[in-house]
Amino acid sequence: MDNHPPKPPTRRPEAERLETDVLDLLVVGGGIVGAGVARDAAMRGLRVGLIEQRDFAFGTSSRSSHLLHGGLRYLSQGHLRLVHEASKEKRVIHRIAPHLAAPQAFIFPTRRGWRWARWKLGIGVKLYDLLCGRRNLGKSSTLTRRETLELLPGLSPDGVTGAVRYFDGLTHDSRLVMDTLRSASRHGAIVLNYARFLDAARQTDHWRIDARDAAADRAMAIRARQIVNATGPWSDKLPHSRTRLRLTKGVHLVIDRGRLPIPEAVVLTEGARILFAIPWGQRVILGTTDTDYAGPVDDPPCEPDDVQYVLDVVAALFPGAGIAPRDVISTWSGLRPLVADRNGQPSDISRRHEITLAEPGWWDVTGGKLTTYRLMAEQTVDRVIRALGRPANPCRTAVEPLLDPREDVGPSSIVPPPVTREAVEHYCHNEWALRLDDVLIRRTGWWYYHADVQAVADAVAPWMAKSLGWDAPRVAAERAACFPLWEAASPSIPPPHRPTAPAKSPGRIPAN
Ligand SMILES: Cc1cc2nc3c(=O)[nH]c(=O)nc-3n(C[C@H](O)[C@H](O)[C@H](O)COP(=O)(O)OP(=O)(O)OC[C@H]3O[C@@H](n4cnc5c(N)ncnc54)[C@H](O)[C@@H]3O)c2cc1C
Repeated sequence: MDNHPPKPPTRRPEAERLETDVLDLLVVGGGIVGAGVARDAAMRGLRVGLIEQRDFAFGTSSRSSHLLHGGLRYLSQGHLRLVHEASKEKRVIHRIAPHLAAPQAFIFPTRRGWRWARWKLGIGVKLYDLLCGRRNLGKSSTLTRRETLELLPGLSPDGVTGAVRYFDGLTHDSRLVMDTLRSASRHGAIVLNYARFLDAARQTDHWRIDARDAAADRAMAIRARQIVNATGPWSDKLPHSRTRLRLTKGVHLVIDRGRLPIPEAVVLTEGARILFAIPWGQRVILGTTDTDYAGPVDDPPCEPDDVQYVLDVVAALFPGAGIAPRDVISTWSGLRPLVADRNGQPSDISRRHEITLAEPGWWDVTGGKLTTYRLMAEQTVDRVIRALGRPANPCRTAVEPLLDPREDVGPSSIVPPPVTREAVEHYCHNEWALRLDDVLIRRTGWWYYHADVQAVADAVAPWMAKSLGWDAPRVAAERAACFPLWEAASPSIPPPHRPTAPAKSPGRIPAN
């Protein structure tokens, strides 16, 4: 391979193709919802383009709890339809992307005098199985006190009455976005990252869209008959949008599995709130919080109070574990783009989605969950096709696999793959990676998984340089731009390898 270095991929033809003809549909936003809409629209035969202001999955779709779930707690709020809908979708994802959907057992310990009595939960999980169809991803069961304490030896035994065990799915959120986009692209969608929507003006029968290609540092003019605003937490900021959002923030912490050796995922309760400890290879993901948020939408910080809150909940259930901020390997923090409802606690707000025609040819798609993205996309594309007023293929996204079953799915997995040059070349050549953090964070999750992320960056940067034609100053600039992200995301955590002198981020990415 050294004798035949791969030709640097070029994104220019994609950018130019976006501007050539009038598109049937332009999707704004490259999170899971935008990716799902682009895939569905392309499969139905529409000429579709997608622009993403940063990297694909930069927003909430790389900052979730990684669960495919019906939402057991929405049952207690009486949202049966929502749970049924999401439960069906969790099985659909299991079918179309088996490499990104592993059945995950959850142990939900119960205690005397708590609102979650074991008998009530026992009925709840049976109903949960039923709502998922004849078979959930696994059959739920009830555990005795002894069985529970044997399974979770570190669990505080005070008042424990037993547990229920039920199943949801574990995924890798940003990988799901990438593979959905790969499929969209194979079906003809033109997708471009680092291209920001600026404004749109209605012409007689189409929109004229002004956008900025940050990678090539140039203005773009795109024409499209319909626009779907799928910008998640940003969706009320776009001109023409009618969306009203209530943003809530959720943080996650990653610790070594040796610090909390749980055999399966554990439900952690704090009053009416539910948090999770989820095994993730050699690590455990702890989270999440749910607090109203009014700060900047890009990169919401994980504050010391957020970390302490999560660790306090863990300490109440696993008092002997003694997990402290110094045990935290990494954190991420995301914003839920909830449909506005000023009343009630954040955790009580429904995760329903809304598809709104803001004005002719402009659709806002908001709310929902990672789990329900495919359904949101199907319903959106149905409406777009009706508005276009012409025949199209039927929706096949629930049955057609994201990737060809014969394809090597090695670089796309729930747990980060090994750090190899072949994987990095694949991300640069087939998955639109342009920056160091595109690979470290959203293509792989190495950023969150590896304690010594600088060593990983040291290995990855030269491989990216070779694939993308970077010179030495560009490599240095990429590293310098990457590590302040750590500072911003986790001001409270003293990671052992945190760099001391973060440099300034390079202004723009040179075009390849
Ligand atoms: C803490 C947390 C945990 C969660 N856990 C789960 C879970 O376990 N399971 C589950 O099913 N759901 C979960 N969710 C919900 C789920 O993650 C979100 O519903 C989903 O990711 C939202 O996707 P999206 O595409 O709507 O938004 P995003 O992923 O935020 O995508 C929007 C994109 O639009 C881009 N954009 C913005 N402005 C512009 C512009 N002007 N031009 C071009 N692009 C633009 C942004 O950069 C961004 O990439 C969780 C959410 C949070 C916050």
